[in-house]
Amino acid sequence: MLDDWAAGFGIDWARDLEGDFAEAEDMLRVQRLDPERMGRNGQLAMEGAAALGVSGGPIARNAGACVQCSSCPLGCPIDAKRGMHVSYLPRAVAAGARLRAGVEVRRVLVEGGRAVGVECRVAGDGNRPASTFTVRARHAVVVAAGAFGTPQLLSRSGLGNDAVGANLHIHPACWVGARYPEEVRGWEGVMQSYYVDGWEAQGILLEATFTPLAFGGAWLVGSGAEHQRAMLDYPHMGSIGVQLTDRSAGRVRGAGDGSLRISYGLDRADAARVVFGIARAAEVHFAAGAAEVYPNVAGVKVLRPDDVASFEAARIKPADLRLEGFHPMGTARIAADPRQGACAPDGSLHGTAGLYVADASLFPTALGVNPMMTIIAFAKQVGRRVAGAAERPLSAVDRP
Ligand SMILES: Cc1cc2nc3c(=O)[nH]c(=O)nc-3n(C[C@H](O)[C@H](O)[C@H](O)COP(=O)(O)OP(=O)(O)OC[C@H]3O[C@@H](n4cnc5c(N)ncnc54)[C@H](O)[C@@H]3O)c2cc1C
Ligand code: SF4
Repeated sequence: MLDDWAAGFGIDWARDLEGDFAEAEDMLRVQRLDPERMGRNGQLAMEGAAALGVSGGPIARNAGACVQCSSCPLGCPIDAKRGMHVSYLPRAVAAGARLRAGVEVRRVLVEGGRAVGVECRVAGDGNRPASTFTVRARHAVVVAAGAFGTPQLLSRSGLGNDAVGANLHIHPACWVGARYPEEVRGWEGVMQSYYVDGWEAQGILLEATFTPLAFGGAWLVGSGAEHQRAMLDYPHMGSIGVQLTDRSAGRVRGAGDGSLRISYGLDRADAARVVFGIARAAEVHFAAGAAEVYPNVAGVKVLRPDDVASFEAARIKPADLRLEGFHPMGTARIAADPRQGACAPDGSLHGTAGLYVADASLFPTALGVNPMMTIIAFAKQVGRRVAGAAERPLSAVDRP
């Protein structure tokens, strides 16, 4: 993917991120999981993949002192997971950064074609009224408000070209649950434990993912008494997540009232790839000994081993799939040619001097793997270019 981005979008440095990945892995103490500590859900995915002869491996995680409580989606209660609040933010503060929490940036301020600061708002509460203030930039403004917030802020500020807000990718994903004769007790492990990348060429990544009941109960079959039975069966459930490298794209727009409008439609080709991924996840479950599989598709409650071929052959529409998206990206994408993207290869917004983007919005296409490390690597690359530009005297082009 990074080679494609270098060749197709002019991001030459995308071929050379090894050092940034290594530094980020060191900072976040990333370690490959010991199979003994994955939990049974991950071990079953590993056994199923091995029986089918498809490639995969234990997931590398930023959670060294993890006690395998599977509560990751609710926030790590013991800060074993090296989130930004225990890694990069303290380092930034130690280096002189000042943080203001609870503040919304309303507008990027531009004078003479150059970004010079931001206008901010602090919401009021029972004790104090709402207030606004501005921050003037010494060198540059860097926007890192995520693939929804960044285009919203840029549009609200009247900045950027037509690519701002377009090209939204989300890695559509679904759970494929299964009932095993043995007790899996998936909550006695880590949430994401084992990946299967043998179908990468088809745009499919499988990840053994088991979430606490309060989060994962949503994919269990049925309603009423049937759903209650499935809940009571939770100790026997296993789960694999299916993630698609989507070619379909959506759009983020600011509405007149300042709120956000997000539209995204999965096309039929991508829907077919998701169905392919669900079928492969079902095969992994069955190869590991599952008795039945729950594909999360409207009208198809349960699959048994002999049903996989007919499931794949059925005409399943995009709207029949029950999907989620955890990785928004691409809405201010980099492209050397401003007709193709919002930002130049150094992360600066085409058409506005002194304004940079440093988040998942920069990705030219869907990435295909969980994005955190690549976002950090991209932010580091942009940061270096911001620092480099700050050291140079203003050119006639940059000067307001
Ligand atoms: C449940 C869940 C699990 C995930 N698990 C993984 C995982 O295991 N591995 C992985 O690689 N990725 C994972 N991801 C995805 C990952 O968290 C995101 O892709 C990543 O955080 C995106 O980074 P970002 O910097 O682009 O944006 P964000 O992390 O979204 O940061 C943007 C920030 O800007 C703030 N903001 C927005 N607008 C404004 C404004 N106007 N003023 C001030 N602040 C603003 C937002 O509040 C937010 O804090 C997961 C996501 C979810 C939801
Ligand atoms: S499983 Fe997740 S929430 Fe629990 S300790 Fe490990 S990182 Fe933290």
